[in-house]
Amino acid sequence: MSMSYVSVPLRRLVTQRAEEQCEYCRYPQAASFFTFEIEHIIAEKHDGITEAENLALACPCCNRFKGTDLGSIDPETKQLTPFFNPRIQQWSVHFRLEGGNILPLTPEGRVTAKILQFNLQERVIEREQLISIGKYPVL
Ligand SMILES: [Zn+2]
Repeated sequence: MSMSYVSVPLRRLVTQRAEEQCEYCRYPQAASFFTFEIEHIIAEKHDGITEAENLALACPCCNRFKGTDLGSIDPETKQLTPFFNPRIQQWSVHFRLEGGNILPLTPEGRVTAKILQFNLQERVIEREQLISIGKYPVL
């Protein structure tokens, strides 16, 4: 959810740093009909700042499901757990791609995959199609 104005240079920095992929589900901007969004990792509602260290590139799906949430209850540990943070954590430590599914590997991965609904059937099918033509990043 971005509310503050994000300057053109800041938008460009965030987009390039993300290599033009959603930093949550790794969907490539080039394959999407929609322009990806500059997302506050810590929402402004929770005093998150509009600076590069608190911003991420997100596809409209991930951004919409994340909303202003910061985390959720991990179904395995039952602990309140923050979402995966692309600024300080490495995607491949927390997730693994298996076919079109994104499998979480950690508590942060599990709450992120669940709340951002990575594995909705239509998203898995879209991913499978991109993988089949070599357009989905393999990490
Ligand atoms: Zn995404």
